[in-house]
Amino acid sequence: MPATAPRGVGHLRGDEPFPAAARRALADAQLRRNLGHATTTIRAKSGAVIGELPDWEQLRAAGSAVKADVLARLPELLEQLEAAVTAAGGSVHWAADAVEANRIVTDLVAATGSDRVIKVKSMATQEIGLNEALAAAGITAVETDLAELIVQLGEDRPSHILVPAIHRNRAEIREIFLRAMPGVDPALTDEPAVLAAAARRYLRQTFLTTPVAVSGANFAVAETGTLAVVESEGNGRMCLTLPETLITVMGIEKVVPTWRDLEVFLQLLPRASTGERMNPYTSMWTGVTPGDGPRAFHLVLLDNGRSAVLADEVGRQALHCIRCSACLNVCPVYQRTGGHAYGSVYPGPIGAVLSPQLTGVEDNASLPYASSLCGACYDACPVKINIPELLVHLRAEHVAAQRRPTAESVAMAAAAYVMDHPALYAAAQRAARLARLAGRRGRGLPPPLSGWTIGRDLPEPPARSFRDWWGQR
Ligand code: SF4
Repeated sequence: MPATAPRGVGHLRGDEPFPAAARRALADAQLRRNLGHATTTIRAKSGAVIGELPDWEQLRAAGSAVKADVLARLPELLEQLEAAVTAAGGSVHWAADAVEANRIVTDLVAATGSDRVIKVKSMATQEIGLNEALAAAGITAVETDLAELIVQLGEDRPSHILVPAIHRNRAEIREIFLRAMPGVDPALTDEPAVLAAAARRYLRQTFLTTPVAVSGANFAVAETGTLAVVESEGNGRMCLTLPETLITVMGIEKVVPTWRDLEVFLQLLPRASTGERMNPYTSMWTGVTPGDGPRAFHLVLLDNGRSAVLADEVGRQALHCIRCSACLNVCPVYQRTGGHAYGSVYPGPIGAVLSPQLTGVEDNASLPYASSLCGACYDACPVKINIPELLVHLRAEHVAAQRRPTAESVAMAAAAYVMDHPALYAAAQRAARLARLAGRRGRGLPPPLSGWTIGRDLPEPPARSFRDWWGQR
């Protein structure tokens, strides 16, 4: 059986269950204001550009079909990719899990003699905890995406796939820059243009003096061995072209068969994520080219639980994800709690179905319940991942994995028994009515059922039941 992601390394498991973390996040009014403003703005922008395309639904169906095809023949496509990258002068490394991937990258950087790397935003490297592994080997990783830089300087954690510092407003960012950015102007204001200029000055110097870069990849084309990174700031283009050595860490599900397939995703991704018609920077490279760009290119193919996800016929659709974050922006739960409450580097609806599968559902057992099952994520997803179906599937898996009965399973079994026996059911209805008449109209249930009513009002039983009404007629 394929292994899940190992414990003790990386950022797929939180320190506490979702309900406890969410309760604390909900008490932060500033966080809710920041999130509400940012998600509403992105949603409106995205909706407008999606509305321009008459064939959006056909594109979604095509994206979903391409991903299903990729997963059906993943080993073959990965071997094709390896052969093409190698033929183009690159080196391919296979990493079974986070520990192995961190070791491979650390060894590669150490072999260059550099004690610093520049990074373009990469969820895979956050997933495996690469920055911590590099730091343990005496290597500093500098994030170059503006939002990632804010998170890194603030010694914080990302809270959104696309906008990792979505929980910060500009006053907070100014304070972080003044505190932690080397050489920053003490007269810095919180004007967005001024903050961006300060980050640009700091990063330009870092780009020009660092010989090794680490990137993720949005896609890899098996037929030619071409890697693709899309971004909005140009920092990725700098990372991918200036250094002498480029190391790319990519989840194995990111491969697509051909350039024709890539075309579909390059239309879907920008409209669903940033609300743009096309990505401002789409960088593509194939191996190494003498006299142009990095002299050495390494591709690390990361499993870290993905084979286990692939082995689940229902669950595997989570691997279709292109990390656009549209499901986060429409989710009523994410919009109020933000990303930190999910504990994993993958927040929101996709995190609630991907993280428990990568780690094994027991290590993230509360996440499949972090949803109202409203279905907004399914409607928004550009590759049609049926997230509500996955949530229910994982809840069932979690319940099945319980060795001893839970309060919920006992209550459900009791309810099933009562509903199966008409006399008992009528007696239960009378008891409920009596409790109502006796004035016990509390909004909650007594223990052990009180957990159900922590976030819900208990409906009052009607004055007259359907059975009474029917009987009288
Ligand atoms: S699940 Fe769908 S909507 Fe959510 S991030 Fe992935 S591709 Fe985007």
